[in-house]
Amino acid sequence: MLGLMQDRPLSLPHVFRRVERYFGHKSVVSGRVGGETTMTWGEVCARVRRLAAALDELGVPAGARVGTFAWNSHRHVELYLAVPCTGRVLHTVNHRLFGEQISYVVNDAADDVLFVDRSILPVIWPLAGTFTTVRAVVVMDDGSDAEIPDDPRVLDYEELLARAGDTGREFGVDDENTAAALCYTSGTTGDPKGVLYSHRSVVLHAALLLMVDTFGINERDVVMPIVPMFHVNAWGLPYSAMLCGADLVLPGPAMSPPELAGMLARHRVTFGAAVATVWRGLLPLLGRHDLSAVRQIVSGGGAVDEALTRAYDEAIGVPLTNAWGMTETSPVVTTSRIATAHDHLTPEQQRELLATPGPAVPLTEVRVVGEDGSEAPWDGRTPGELQAAGPTIAARYFGEHGGTAAFTEDGWLRTGDVATIDRHGYVRIVDRTKDLVKSGGEWISSVELENAIMAHPGVAEAAVIGVADDKWGERPVACVVPAAGATLTAEDVRDHLRGRVASWWLPDQVFFCDEIPRTATGKFSKQRLRSLYTTFGR
Ligand code: ADP
Repeated sequence: MLGLMQDRPLSLPHVFRRVERYFGHKSVVSGRVGGETTMTWGEVCARVRRLAAALDELGVPAGARVGTFAWNSHRHVELYLAVPCTGRVLHTVNHRLFGEQISYVVNDAADDVLFVDRSILPVIWPLAGTFTTVRAVVVMDDGSDAEIPDDPRVLDYEELLARAGDTGREFGVDDENTAAALCYTSGTTGDPKGVLYSHRSVVLHAALLLMVDTFGINERDVVMPIVPMFHVNAWGLPYSAMLCGADLVLPGPAMSPPELAGMLARHRVTFGAAVATVWRGLLPLLGRHDLSAVRQIVSGGGAVDEALTRAYDEAIGVPLTNAWGMTETSPVVTTSRIATAHDHLTPEQQRELLATPGPAVPLTEVRVVGEDGSEAPWDGRTPGELQAAGPTIAARYFGEHGGTAAFTEDGWLRTGDVATIDRHGYVRIVDRTKDLVKSGGEWISSVELENAIMAHPGVAEAAVIGVADDKWGERPVACVVPAAGATLTAEDVRDHLRGRVASWWLPDQVFFCDEIPRTATGKFSKQRLRSLYTTFGR
């Protein structure tokens, strides 16, 4: 027998109507080059309506992908609403990717139009000739003086909005499984993979973040997503803020530690979210700013170390809360909290607990699976591959090239992280099987870096490992076997890489060895290489 409740879609038009009707008086602050802009949600929503009309005028078809290269700003928020609320798909692109990867994702997504912050234009425009489907590039002036190309494909955002006007139509998306947003994740080998979120998954995820045992975001909060809006929708925080009417503070291109600390203090931010590298960068500035309004700061995307969270606890009375997730999982799957079972722990132990990923949020499930394919016990000791399932987690990748290796036969996502789960369901990450280095919250593909190094004629073999780094979380270190007769220095290797990979991919250290240790099946043994590095490399 079926239930007899209304079958109404979980969709972003509802989120739009809610923020417009209830919270029009609340504010959205956006940083721009040399200043900031404050708007009400009401003003932002009025602009969303005009943007929706502009997308119609541009002739962007239903279901087409609209690419964005933008900082966290009110314009990006406008795109977050207007694009999916009109049945198009928002494709946020990380402009820090290397040029070839940017071209790949724009073409793989078949973006119809691109919206680009003026300050990011110098990165994107030189690639324009490689984009095969893009009909127009709409420039959003963020105060930068970057040159705007004289080209008929280049349009101005504010002019489009001014011309478009408001058609007064109601937004509606009938099927909650309609695609809303597309985000690419780096693959361990090969090309980035697209994760295609639905209206249903985005709305569910936004609501999950509001739950008290998740982040408890509410109308009284001033939420500052420092995590970029091109990075898994800024962990979904803008949509959560809309749903509950929180004020939103968006740093725009003002991403230096002094600018971020100033914004946190000036706007009395209560809830901040960023990768550990950002929190680490802000640490020396804490004493100079009044951060007494902060009630929770979340660090995600990588491990949180004990020293960092202790330093925050001592400086502002708020330790970091950890959250675990990936692009494939919308992203938040777990976040830590002190439950009744932990009341007996010392304050220090409780702080340590908050710095672990913690238990799965409602509606999602996790398990760890051993090499024999059986589920490991929740004993806090037995490691296995972390797998996740739920309505906010990808079922497959977008496009033909994604592959199915990341999904189990019974439909769980294989995360590539090695974890333990304790009897209360608290996850701890102990290792990673995917061959990637995570530096400052951004991926570096070891395989691609190895291939780039091995393209040097003086190199016989090269392997790259990630090693712990105080500032960036992890940094790449290369182990190189010189070709017979070649003399090579670390600087030669780095010189060779410049222009071939992004500058932040350059290995901090290059050490030379006679051979690279291998596994029984002949692959590089990163595990043995890591211990070799610990013994000899430092
Ligand atoms: P994100 O945007 O959250 O960084 P990615 O898909 O780029 O998403 O990266 C996901 C990966 O980052 C995870 O599989 C894991 O290796 C690492 N990661 C994310 N959160 C944590 C965490 N809290 N602790 C340890 N590693 C983490």
